[in-house]
Amino acid sequence: MNLAVLDQRISECRACPRLVEWREQVAREKRAAFRDETYWGRPVPGFGPPDARMLIVGLAPAAHGANRTGRMFTGDRSGDVLYAALYAVGLASQPTASHIGDGLALHGVRITAPVHCAPPANKPTPAERDACRNWLEQELDLLAPTVRSIMVLGGFGWQALLPVLAGAGWTVPRPAPKFGHGASVTLAPARPDREPLELFGCYHVSQQNTFTGRLTPAMVEQVLADTARAARL
Ligand code: SF4
Repeated sequence: MNLAVLDQRISECRACPRLVEWREQVAREKRAAFRDETYWGRPVPGFGPPDARMLIVGLAPAAHGANRTGRMFTGDRSGDVLYAALYAVGLASQPTASHIGDGLALHGVRITAPVHCAPPANKPTPAERDACRNWLEQELDLLAPTVRSIMVLGGFGWQALLPVLAGAGWTVPRPAPKFGHGASVTLAPARPDREPLELFGCYHVSQQNTFTGRLTPAMVEQVLADTARAARL
């Protein structure tokens, strides 16, 4: 198994009936508005090099963003903020992301999510989150030789990620570390083939946070820079 095979398998997954119905319904209804594009309408795999030293974990694809373009955070306002910040700190080749094949490359960073299908109202159910857990566990297993830090966008991703990390070979302290913007914690390896892993919390780059000023570009860049430093990028 390698990441390319895993990504292909994820993109074919149909384990969650409600999300399969939703992602395909959105694609059917919106296809006409994006006639020049191939509307993705499937699970969105992670994006970034297979030897990434740093991971970014969000929530789930947006209905008209990644669900449309097929690439994480590509084609919506959240992605505009995230990719501009990645470029500002030297982790992306360009500040914008519009579609697969737009020339964007990430330097040492991979972006993924605990839920790979767009959920209605951006709210996956606990059962859907749990159904998708195995994909993230496999992705972490493949990235484990190189990944040293994770930036988590929002409380949902943080809560979803901790049990995955426990299952993938790291020790999660008890009580579980709380999410917060700027929160950080180091997880010790629970297996000999794992290295310590540093987690950093950042408010999600959704419009809810960026339009209200709760999260500014400078705040995103700061957490990105801290996470990159921990990964020695
Ligand atoms: Fe499969 Fe995850 Fe999509 Fe559910 S959310 S259908 S488990 S890829």
